[in-house]
Amino acid sequence: MDDVIVIGAGPAGLQAALTLGRMHRSVLLLDSGEYRNATVAHMHNVVTHDGTPPSQFRTVARAQLESYADVTVREATATAVSGAADDFSVTLDDGTTARARRVILATGVVDDLPDIPGLAELWGRRAFTCPFCDGHEHAGRQVALLGTARAAHLVALLGRIAAGITVFPLGESPSDEERRALETRGARVHAAPAAAVRADGDGVRVETAVGDVVVDGVFVATGSMRQRAPFAEQLGLRMLSSGAIEIDEFGRTSVAGVSAAGDLAHRATLPGPVASVVMAAAAGQMAAAGLVQELAAH
Ligand SMILES: Cc1cc2nc3c(=O)[nH]c(=O)nc-3n(C[C@H](O)[C@H](O)[C@H](O)COP(=O)(O)OP(=O)(O)OC[C@H]3O[C@@H](n4cnc5c(N)ncnc54)[C@H](O)[C@@H]3O)c2cc1C
Repeated sequence: MDDVIVIGAGPAGLQAALTLGRMHRSVLLLDSGEYRNATVAHMHNVVTHDGTPPSQFRTVARAQLESYADVTVREATATAVSGAADDFSVTLDDGTTARARRVILATGVVDDLPDIPGLAELWGRRAFTCPFCDGHEHAGRQVALLGTARAAHLVALLGRIAAGITVFPLGESPSDEERRALETRGARVHAAPAAAVRADGDGVRVETAVGDVVVDGVFVATGSMRQRAPFAEQLGLRMLSSGAIEIDEFGRTSVAGVSAAGDLAHRATLPGPVASVVMAAAAGQMAAAGLVQELAAH
């Protein structure tokens, strides 16, 4: 029986395991190898790691965990979590079961992209969603925004950075009010919806029924995130309208003994997760520190 099983080894889970290992709490860290930023070449807005490949970040984190005797890392997919505080069981896809007194869910989210041919291939390479992560790399360049749902917000953020922004509806036509809001902020609204996006030289060709437009990069102004793993549902955790798990200041969920950290969870006072590497790692540390204190009190 370990003290804690951490499911997920992105920034949140890696930091949680590090904190637990340093406090000599036995921890099993599980990794199915499905990272939200799997296709990203360089992560940004990460202090001391601005421009570092995410794979390098993970490799260094794993290497540093090796010096902690209390940390065990397994490449395995968890399929079920059951039990209660002081005796949780986590079933793995090889049929084995691991047990621990506490569980930290750090399994992240999946981005549900709009159904545009070519978008999945460009995702994380030339198509992005977060201006904080990838906006600066488009400074002085032409950007396409796909979808009108969050377009006004993205135009307000990217307008200071990009040289020009063209918004492409995705089937839906923007209302006059939406169109005015976008144009007032300096964006162009294309006459026809985006039908497909393709790599074109160093840029992206946006195909439409009335002609193609070549831009330097694409931002997706619509789409949503959903839980990558089924554990929140299995455990009956209280969820927020964002689709994320509700946590308190210490990363605790509504079920005793189960904490959550990273993109999959946030406090009810926020409209959604502040989904970034630094915030995920910070949440992982907070969840682990909370459990260290909790276990010490028993
Ligand atoms: C295109 C794109 C670009 C981005 N660029 C940046 C950037 O430049 N800077 C930045 O700060 N943020 C960036 N982000 C956001 C960043 O990737 C996330 O905020 C961060 O990865 C969240 O970390 P996490 O640990 O919560 O989840 P993840 O990194 O997604 O890790 C989830 C972990 O859970 C594991 N897992 C899932 N299910 C199971 C299971 N059943 N069993 C075992 N393990 C499981 C996975 O294998 C993985 O190890 C970007 C996101 C996208 C989509």
